[in-house]
Amino acid sequence: MTKNFAEGTGGSGQGNRGEEDLSCFLRAHPVKTRRLARACGCRCEHCGFSYPVNLLSVHILNPQGSPLHSESNPQNALLVLCPACLSFFATPEVIREQKMVLVRLRPKDTSQAMRKILVTPSRPYTPPESRDWAEIFGELMTGGAPDLCLNGG
Ligand SMILES: [Zn+2]
Repeated sequence: MTKNFAEGTGGSGQGNRGEEDLSCFLRAHPVKTRRLARACGCRCEHCGFSYPVNLLSVHILNPQGSPLHSESNPQNALLVLCPACLSFFATPEVIREQKMVLVRLRPKDTSQAMRKILVTPSRPYTPPESRDWAEIFGELMTGGAPDLCLNGG
């Protein structure tokens, strides 16, 4: 199971297979960040306000010491935060123990959903072979949802 995470580093160019940490993993899989935000109900885990999913970010509690594959509960090493709380949590005023309190207060079902997102390997995307690009573009422009390209669905 764990080797799938190492395979995800191929695009980073670091060649640091087997040592991938949580922040590298989330950079390589931005869709996982959005799914984590949705698992939290699109709410900041600090202030509790709702935000559009694209505004929420994942704050890693200990960026240097969070190897993904050796964590049985990698969701305990992160918080989903809004932009204001993210910049506040980046200051030394918020100590790790205060952040851990928020992790411990997280509802159990949310925690389980986040764990599943983190430990489930991403499926590789295989584009269809026989489609005509002009046809795809035509469908996109006449389908009534051209902003799918901007919002990522
Ligand atoms: Zn917030």
